[in-house]
Amino acid sequence: MSYDNDNIFAKILAGELPCYKIYEDEGTFAFLDIMPRADGHLLVIPKTPARNLLDANPDQMAAVMATVQKLSKAAMRAFAAGGITIQQFNEAAGGQEVYHLHVHVLPRHKGQALRPPGTMADADILSGHVEKMRAALE
Ligand code: AMP
Repeated sequence: MSYDNDNIFAKILAGELPCYKIYEDEGTFAFLDIMPRADGHLLVIPKTPARNLLDANPDQMAAVMATVQKLSKAAMRAFAAGGITIQQFNEAAGGQEVYHLHVHVLPRHKGQALRPPGTMADADILSGHVEKMRAALE
């Protein structure tokens, strides 16, 4: 399986598609999932091509996980969360739908189930979540 340069997240990285940007550093980029399964559900990706965990190099994994940790801590504050769930899917059989390595960060509250996948959130709600995360990162 090889990397598809035309995948949606490659287009977001190239600035060809919009996103609700949360954070970026030298090696990683993070933005809100547009079909959030929890308030603040965000995705962390490497800036360089990797299809998923199975072809990523150790530097990409290290950079992505460092950002996952940083944004998880910020999301705890931003959403007054009780915990964080991390999800990461590899290949179709593993549940992957977009073929650029990404890690899901899901702020959680005790007793609150994840919402079912596939429902687009309102733009103004997502914009509000970006503001909360940016404030928590300052
Ligand atoms: P998966 O590959 O199974 O981790 O699923 C891809 C994830 O990307 C899903 O949670 C989608 O809601 C999310 N997604 C798909 N397109 C976009 C987009 N344009 N911007 C942000 N998130 C997206």
